[in-house]
Amino acid sequence: MSREIDQASELETRLRDHALANIRAGAKRETPMPSGICPWCEEQAPAGATFCGTECAQDWQEHNRRHQTAARIQGNA
Ligand SMILES: [Zn+2]
Repeated sequence: MSREIDQASELETRLRDHALANIRAGAKRETPMPSGICPWCEEQAPAGATFCGTECAQDWQEHNRRHQTAARIQGNA
């Protein structure tokens, strides 16, 4: 009886984690529009710029490249 409840809540937790991971992955994959806040480090970005600087832009690209490669290897691309 209590075991069923445990399994149900464990599944729920897993589904929620999975959904959150998908949201995060999607958010990181698309280059966002300039919002005044660097999406990489959450510092203030110059007007009209997506990132606060080239370092963050490069880190972002590198992250996306690795993420997409990993997704391809796992067959999720
Ligand atoms: Zn930044």
